Amino acid sequence: MKSPSSKEIIKKSYDRLYKAFGRQRWWPTQGIENPLFEIIIGTILTQNTAWQNAEKAIINLCSNNLIDIGKIKKINRKRLANLIRSAGYYNQKAERLKIVAQHLAKYPSIKVFFDRPAEELREELLSIKGIGPETADSILLYAGNKPCFVVDAYTKRIFSRLGLCEQDIDYHELQKIFIDSLKKDVRLFQEYHALIVECAKLFCRKKPVCKKCPLEKMCRKK
Ligand code: SF4
Repeated sequence: MKSPSSKEIIKKSYDRLYKAFGRQRWWPTQGIENPLFEIIIGTILTQNTAWQNAEKAIINLCSNNLIDIGKIKKINRKRLANLIRSAGYYNQKAERLKIVAQHLAKYPSIKVFFDRPAEELREELLSIKGIGPETADSILLYAGNKPCFVVDAYTKRIFSRLGLCEQDIDYHELQKIFIDSLKKDVRLFQEYHALIVECAKLFCRKKPVCKKCPLEKMCRKK
């Protein structure tokens, strides 16, 4: 039997995941006044940790009224680190938040910052200390509403097990496979990444739980 193409694997996986989990409505925010900055903060706090740990830190920042570029820029770094302790690597992340806030403060508003082509923005984001491709694309996709597909460790894990790629595939190579296979649509990219995360959390863990996984019928590793 003919092996499915990358495009077929990617489209079929989306359909199955969407059917199983439904709409994810990412990025989750606390519903405060500055959701775009909250998303940016979230992308940094969730680096190398589970979302629940980052979320506790965001709630802490919200209750201290700190989801604000000017306030993060001014706050004492040690105090900020203490407030985001639950997210892990808190000294490093406090420094990163302050650097990002200093950068964004150069613009009249976040909307003005994002009001440029994605490529230009991506380059600028990558020039900021502590922002790598995954964080930059998460910011662009979820805060900037730009069609940048986010690749993370979960994407590599699931799609290597499905036979689409090697587990250690280069970030941009896998990103290109997805972009070339899908309609360039922001909502679709937002949903797909969220569905991948859901599948990895519930089923495609380090030790996979394949039995009820929505991708089980098309998976090579079973
Ligand atoms: S069937 Fe198992 S290995 Fe394949 S994607 Fe699902 S959980 Fe992962």
